[in-house]
Amino acid sequence: MKSGHSIRIVEARKNYGSLAALNGLSLEIQAGQFTVLLGPSGSGKSTLIRSLAGIEKLDSGSIFFGDREVNKGPLNLAPDKRDLAMVFQDYALWPHLSAFDNIGYALKRRKLPAEESTKKINQALAQVGLGTKGANYPHQLSGGEQQRVALARAIVADPALLLFDEPLSNLDADLRERLRIEISTLTREIGASALYITHDQSEAFALADRIGVINKGSIEQIDTPEAIYNTPATRFVATFTGTAGIFTGVVKSVGEESCIVTLGNEELTARHTVAISVGQEVDLLVRPAATSFTDKDKNRISSTITDIAYRGRGYEHAIETKYGSLTGVFDTMSHPRGRTMEVSIDPERCIAFPHQPKN
Ligand code: ADP
Repeated sequence: MKSGHSIRIVEARKNYGSLAALNGLSLEIQAGQFTVLLGPSGSGKSTLIRSLAGIEKLDSGSIFFGDREVNKGPLNLAPDKRDLAMVFQDYALWPHLSAFDNIGYALKRRKLPAEESTKKINQALAQVGLGTKGANYPHQLSGGEQQRVALARAIVADPALLLFDEPLSNLDADLRERLRIEISTLTREIGASALYITHDQSEAFALADRIGVINKGSIEQIDTPEAIYNTPATRFVATFTGTAGIFTGVVKSVGEESCIVTLGNEELTARHTVAISVGQEVDLLVRPAATSFTDKDKNRISSTITDIAYRGRGYEHAIETKYGSLTGVFDTMSHPRGRTMEVSIDPERCIAFPHQPKN
């Protein structure tokens, strides 16, 4: 197993007219690390990944692979010299080549003896579970199989960096889950560094060693999935990585990390990751995992069930409280619409940010 590139992006800027697609973005990826960039459409993810691949040029800033700067003037390294491979949302296979030849295409530059390249291609086909489909053309393969060919083509030359541009977006839910696991396993098996971009938070959390949350061309927070979930650095990060709902209240007291917030004539304990002060109006962003139906905890409020969705392992409920509604309140049993229930809010997963009026 070879080791992947370590990547350092420093103050990357790219403008399209007056629009800053990359707005001084900095990011580091350690060798062999699987990093996911999570952000909404238009946040600059594709621009960044295309700049790493060498198919887009930055206006300013630097990209280093190890110690080597790859994007500067005469030092600008051609895409095919960067020792990387990319997997696209739309597979991007050659329609006139078989699966075998599509994969073989990635080995052309290597000029390997035919026998060795056949061996590598067959091994890559087997690794993605397509051992018997090498002779098929793309139109004779399902969407999932075509994406497996694209994955085999990406790994066959054993690149130091794998770039994934929303590779699962065109697939059905069931297949998405299976292919996600294959991407995760194969990438780690070959030891490549990986940068994977998506707008899907569940995909990001499932895949990443580290998640970078990107907004308007810069990274708002980069950390482990656990840290992003439990201590979101900004309101955008908290919102984009999933909330059950938001309650607005007034800060009664503040500790180093925790605070007590008054809602009407009740109180909830919460956490804060940015500065807030006594008397300030705040929004409590409640993670779905913070909620449970119990009348034993202290940190709870009264609610009425408004909707129930069966989720296999149990039921997710939508509830209405005096202070606003929440979704995704999980229980193994279902509770009927209209029933009054006490809902407890885990203070660790309920995060206060300065109030922002709804627009
Ligand atoms: P994402 O991948 O997160 O959806 P992109 O990197 O594709 O975001 O785009 C970032 C911003 O730059 C968007 O507002 C997009 O419309 C704009 N943009 C991207 N490519 C071009 C281009 N070739 N010309 C003009 N604007 C572009």
